[in-house]
Amino acid sequence: MPTPIVIAHRGASGYLPEHTLPAKALAAGMGADYLEQDVVLTRDGVPIVLHDIHLDTVTDVAERFPGRARPDGRYYAIDFTLEEIRTLLVRERFSHKTGQPVFSKRFPHVASRFTLHTLAEEIAFVQGLNRSMSRTFGIYPEIKQPAFHRREGQDISAIVLRVLEESGYRSKEEACYLQCFDEPETERCRRELKCPLKIIQLLEEKDWKLLLAAPRRGDLDAALAKVAGYADGIGPPVSLLVSEFRADGTFAATELAAAAHHHGLVIHPWTLRRDELPKSVPSFDRQMEILFGELRVDGAFSDFPDLTRQWIDRRMA
Ligand code: CA
Repeated sequence: MPTPIVIAHRGASGYLPEHTLPAKALAAGMGADYLEQDVVLTRDGVPIVLHDIHLDTVTDVAERFPGRARPDGRYYAIDFTLEEIRTLLVRERFSHKTGQPVFSKRFPHVASRFTLHTLAEEIAFVQGLNRSMSRTFGIYPEIKQPAFHRREGQDISAIVLRVLEESGYRSKEEACYLQCFDEPETERCRRELKCPLKIIQLLEEKDWKLLLAAPRRGDLDAALAKVAGYADGIGPPVSLLVSEFRADGTFAATELAAAAHHHGLVIHPWTLRRDELPKSVPSFDRQMEILFGELRVDGAFSDFPDLTRQWIDRRMA
């Protein structure tokens, strides 16, 4: 079995504000194999690296552009031009309602200067590191909320695929995985948009939990066979692989890992967080031991790519 890959989730997001270039540089320095990009569009149709379709959980948009929220009170990236978005300052993730940080021990809201950037800029940054460090850091772009973008009049998948093609990612040999939660859209990327890259189907917990209920093994197989028809792997939440972690260190695995491997799919679960372990997991190391050592997953999204790199190098290299 090949050594599992370390995917830096939004960069080294356990240490620096997510999706900033410093967070990506730190992840590269920590030895991540892949750097993740979540992608949404601006009003002028430019793909930018941002986790939410909203700007108000990681930037100062509400202070800078009062009055530009929609009736639901939220500030949407697609309502702002790239030029406007470039003026925003990025911070560690916080609640748009209370202003409080989501992870209290992470990078503080100090006066530092982090900004947003485009997908093309991040790819150029990664390729620059590949050259200067004589390494191949992979990219792992996620198409966010294609149905929302379509309602706003934009075909985000076609736009993202064009940027990847122009950046030289043109086959499964490239260090690039494309990911998306929307199953019909992911399939469309392969079949209609002719995506030539490795594709990961992200799994929604609520949809797949039902398929993992005991009497529905045939349904699980059929669902995975369908995914294997267009994708190279799955990206499940850890909770779909392990139904229960017990205080004594044992666990109950679902059928998903074995079934997905049976269908030839790689498994890249999310998200490893030292500061947000699943209930009853005694340690971050134990969680990694269960996933990599016992369930044999092929990689994982980690907010702490240094710790995941170190565990894999110590135990599996
Ligand atoms: Ca993501």
